[in-house]
Amino acid sequence: MSSPQEDFNLHNIAKAQFDKAVPFTTKLEGWRGLAEWLFQPERIIKVTLPVEMDDGYVHTFTGFRVLHDTSRGPGKGGFRFHPSVAEDEVKALATWMTWKCALVDVPFGGAKGGVRCDPTTISWREKRRITRRYIAALGDNIGPHTDIPAPDLYTDAQTMAWVYDTYSMLHPGKNNLAVVTGKPLDLGGSEGREAATASGLLLVIEHMIAVGALPPLNGLSGVTVAIQGFGNVGGHCARLFHNAGAVVVAVSDRHGGVYDPNGLDVTRLGAHLAETGSVVHFPGTESLAVGEVLEAPCDLLVPAAIETQITAENAPRIQAAVVVEGANGPTTPGADEILRDRGITVVPDILANTGGVVVSYFEWVQNLANKSWPAAEVGRLLEEKMRCATDVVLATRAGLLDGFARYQEAWTAVRENDPPLPPPTLRTAAHVAALERCRRATESRGIWP
Ligand code: GLU
Repeated sequence: MSSPQEDFNLHNIAKAQFDKAVPFTTKLEGWRGLAEWLFQPERIIKVTLPVEMDDGYVHTFTGFRVLHDTSRGPGKGGFRFHPSVAEDEVKALATWMTWKCALVDVPFGGAKGGVRCDPTTISWREKRRITRRYIAALGDNIGPHTDIPAPDLYTDAQTMAWVYDTYSMLHPGKNNLAVVTGKPLDLGGSEGREAATASGLLLVIEHMIAVGALPPLNGLSGVTVAIQGFGNVGGHCARLFHNAGAVVVAVSDRHGGVYDPNGLDVTRLGAHLAETGSVVHFPGTESLAVGEVLEAPCDLLVPAAIETQITAENAPRIQAAVVVEGANGPTTPGADEILRDRGITVVPDILANTGGVVVSYFEWVQNLANKSWPAAEVGRLLEEKMRCATDVVLATRAGLLDGFARYQEAWTAVRENDPPLPPPTLRTAAHVAALERCRRATESRGIWP
């Protein structure tokens, strides 16, 4: 799935996306170096963790926590267990969290963390010891008003309970619930948090369809959907799209995929997964190799696994009319251009998958207020946030297209040797809207001292 000429470094990908947005910000001339400040992470923490494994061996793990930007509030973002965890990956993910929080207008900056390990081979107890040692090593670099972790790849409500417990043991005598979100319901978690990313993604698509922003689609009934990844995001997406009348034709997990042009029985698929540990060999379906799900015939493709899955190599073979990014960074800049030229709409991650952090924000507010909101209230507020963010992105893009000749002129005046400015995609518009919010916050605060 890799193409030798493409750069798969996530931080370079985040930078390429950012650079596409800068010429469209209203103050191209007046940025006074702020563009660089807004892109660079504020703080990078690397920790080395000795952890006693079940067999007594002391394994040395490496962990990171990156705080990208605090112009609009404390850091917010998940942490993951994954073999690919590295400084540049975490920096990129923290950067995207800043844009996401700005876009949905929650009072946080971006952050992200991770421990490099293979979560599929470590035991439950080992995972607990890694989590505790990682959180202890981060010390007061996390906190309810400094940086608030949440779940991400291979971390879940149980992991967040360990985060809370560890932090609480180190800060006795305080209400520490707001130090982490995505906690279990019994421990200050919020209704709706577990399915929030998928719920938010569906709300974005429903709203875009309702306002005519996804032209080939005029409703979800009968729309065919392929989903890469069957974890928290992909699994809930399959259920929610199915319930909304769509036909889920293909899904995959890290072992492989399954395809049925007549639609998969999502409930039975869930039972098959619980029984066998994978979606593969689901009876009555055609088997797909890992990655093939992306090329399955469908109207709507949801990459909901990991980064850099849709590349310049496979983008020409994507058959969907719309790609909705459930994962962070699933599409490379090279693929973005190919999809744009092929008329395939990409609903970008920094809009499509923000439902998780929105409900994380609700959880944080509930914790600070010692309250617990009913599920219906969480659902109503999530819908409001997702619709509003979608409208902002659509309006931003319409505005940029309206003034395109002017932006083009300003660009060629300063960059006469560079290629002409490409028309803004939804990803660029989302970046522009988010960046403008961060810039305005930074400018109204002023540069200290
Ligand atoms: N890890 C999730 C994300 O990438 C959630 C972050 C949060 O809730 O803080 O958006």
